[in-house]
Amino acid sequence: ATPVGLLTGTGRGAQLGILIKGPQVLEDTRTVDTILLDKTGTVTSGKLSVARTVLLPGAGSEDEDGLLRLAGSLENAGEHPIARAIAAAAGQGPGLAPVSGFLSSPGGGVRGVVEGRSIVAGRPGWLEENGIPLDSAAADTLRREQETGATAVVVALDGTPAGIISLQDTIKDGSRQAVARLRELGLRPVLLTGDNAVVAAAVAREVGIAPEDVLADVRPEGKVDAVRRFQEQGATVAMAGDGVNDAAALAQADLGIAMGSGTDAAMAAADLTVMGSSLGQVATAIELSRRTLRTIK
Ligand code: ADP
Ligand code: MG
Repeated sequence: ATPVGLLTGTGRGAQLGILIKGPQVLEDTRTVDTILLDKTGTVTSGKLSVARTVLLPGAGSEDEDGLLRLAGSLENAGEHPIARAIAAAAGQGPGLAPVSGFLSSPGGGVRGVVEGRSIVAGRPGWLEENGIPLDSAAADTLRREQETGATAVVVALDGTPAGIISLQDTIKDGSRQAVARLRELGLRPVLLTGDNAVVAAAVAREVGIAPEDVLADVRPEGKVDAVRRFQEQGATVAMAGDGVNDAAALAQADLGIAMGSGTDAAMAAADLTVMGSSLGQVATAIELSRRTLRTIK
């Protein structure tokens, strides 16, 4: 369904860029006591930039720029913030090549054929599940990159790890204050991410989420399970996210909140969309609809 500006009744919802799907949504905001926050694109800007490319033995004769160009050509077909960042960085060099047989695995990575070479780029664990493990030297390199707070993507050429692309993200302005406001509203904020634990812990620390409330390395199916687990423990759960990989969890949550900057899949699955995509608006949406509900009752 297309979101309708129900809160336009007060004029305030529309003014604040908050779109709500139906009246029952207001009921749900009243009782939520836990809010799961997707990291990339929700708490952080999701506007990643490539910090550096490190070569692994599988690179063969490719240098850093060559590997980045191949990866960028592949990722150019993707829509994940990681894909956009890698394609943008590669596009600054020589032009990108066409990709065939492109396949995207949400929460994992992408694969395809560029210039006759099979390329896979994604989360290290996902490559391993697909028969492309890192040897111990490569795993050491990976850990070093992650310890800088980077989201590290492994790139394999013709089935062999060829390099690691490190990306840096920034926390959105106002995320820290928004987490504090959510707490004041009586909600327990939990960080939920498919990214690695080192990066997740650093982001949690910066925005004021407790270390025990960080769930990292979570697959898209795992995000739904996390929502369900909190619900089984008696919580009424809100979930805020932006990605294709968040859609199922947004649908499972008692209150699904999508970022307006995010994917159509997230917005379609959510009860509520914040057009400005700030976490502050998420707090405002909960505040405002609780207030509106009081007025209606
Ligand atoms: P988040 O929960 O933080 O939004 P995702 O679940 O979307 O993260 O992605 C989890 C991990 O999967 C990323 O950190 C990355 O390692 C990998 N990944 C996802 N999409 C891509 C892609 N297009 N290219 C490379 N790696 C990807
Ligand atoms: Mg996201």
